[in-house]
Amino acid sequence: MFLHENLSVQDNGRLAFCGRDTAELAEQYGTPLYLLDEEGIRQRCRLYRDAMAEYFGNGSMPLFASKVLCFKRIYEMVAEEGIGTDLVSSGEIHTAVKAGFPMEKAYFHGSNKTDFDIRYAMDCNVGYFICDNEWEIVEINREAEKRGVQQKVLLRLTPGIDPHTHQAISTGKVDSKFGVAIETGQAEAFIKRVLTLKNIELKGYHCHIGSQIFDYKPFTDAAVLMLDFIAHIKEVCGYQAEELNLGGGMGVRYVESEPQIDYRENLRGIAALMKERCAALGISLPKILMEPGRSIVADQGITLYTAGGLKEITGFKNYVSIDGGMPDNPRYALYQSPYTVVNASKADKPADYVCTVAGRCCESGDLIQENVSLAKPEKGDLIAVLATGAYNYSMASNYNRIPRPAIVLVDKNGRDYVGVRRESLDDLLRNDI
Ligand SMILES: *Cc1c(COP(=O)(O)O)cnc(C)c1O
Repeated sequence: MFLHENLSVQDNGRLAFCGRDTAELAEQYGTPLYLLDEEGIRQRCRLYRDAMAEYFGNGSMPLFASKVLCFKRIYEMVAEEGIGTDLVSSGEIHTAVKAGFPMEKAYFHGSNKTDFDIRYAMDCNVGYFICDNEWEIVEINREAEKRGVQQKVLLRLTPGIDPHTHQAISTGKVDSKFGVAIETGQAEAFIKRVLTLKNIELKGYHCHIGSQIFDYKPFTDAAVLMLDFIAHIKEVCGYQAEELNLGGGMGVRYVESEPQIDYRENLRGIAALMKERCAALGISLPKILMEPGRSIVADQGITLYTAGGLKEITGFKNYVSIDGGMPDNPRYALYQSPYTVVNASKADKPADYVCTVAGRCCESGDLIQENVSLAKPEKGDLIAVLATGAYNYSMASNYNRIPRPAIVLVDKNGRDYVGVRRESLDDLLRNDI
């Protein structure tokens, strides 16, 4: 009935998540509440891990993109499933280290790593830096020299691919703020410079074209372009990249009108085309890395809210007010992201009440979704927003001094446990003088 496998309707008409009554979980932990399907997340890690090993071989591996969901427990899970991670800040590095993540499998991103970040990442023995620009490579080289080490580096390049996704999540076009452009010749000049740096061990290149991409053509276009570039650099500099990181961006189904992607099949298709291209270019296939984020966790999570108000503006629209909003999920306010909303207390009833789901902040733009259909709520009904595992908790704020919700995981035996405690009112004052 519902979008994802971890959702079902119980005999009492209520929504279940991983076989657990959402009303019971809400009763125990309060709302708003983030719920995560631990086994579902692990399965996606394994899917990417096994498919990449099978289709690309050569030590190829997925890296979980930390920015989509960062807390200690997720690093334990990712480490147990044997995959790597990418990180974009000292805060993410610190979280991974504290969770005992094997840092040799960590790749450090960011378009403006501060000098502190660079030192901290080296203190923590982060395996690879993914370098964005010239100032940064100079600083990495300087710091590595001071420590008498060789730092492994990938260079972030912009292949000039438009993945036809939302502007704010399109990152691989030539005028992007990320990386160095291939088209303008700047990438080639950059590589020549990097190859002269004594304390940099250049391992290869990185590109990330954007997010929420359903068609796999943009990925193969980018991959082929990168392989052509690898062959070109081999010819002009005698340097062949050992590793090629293709970034993340595989789409996720948020609403029924979006397709369900077969990730394994996509990887098979991308690998086949890349191998063909390598043969044509006379180069060996590099070790391939990918950075799936959203497609590992988004549909493995939901958020539960309590309906606290219903406003029917005669002749205009209906609002359902919930006890959360843009502080725990800013994505509709940021880029009109679509979501499916369900009345979890009446999941067996027809979803025939058209309304706008509004948050509790003092902003008219604080909406979770406009004009969605759900069973008409009564006061106290549980409202579930589906596929909130990615870019919700990690983007959460304390706007209006609202504490962040808890994250509760349900494991494969149906046992629930807290991954992140709910913030208390005193937590909000922790740093106030
Ligand atoms: C955001 C991002 C990802 C993850 O993207 P998803 O769409 O969540 O898979 C991977 N790599 C880089 C460099 C990113 O910026």
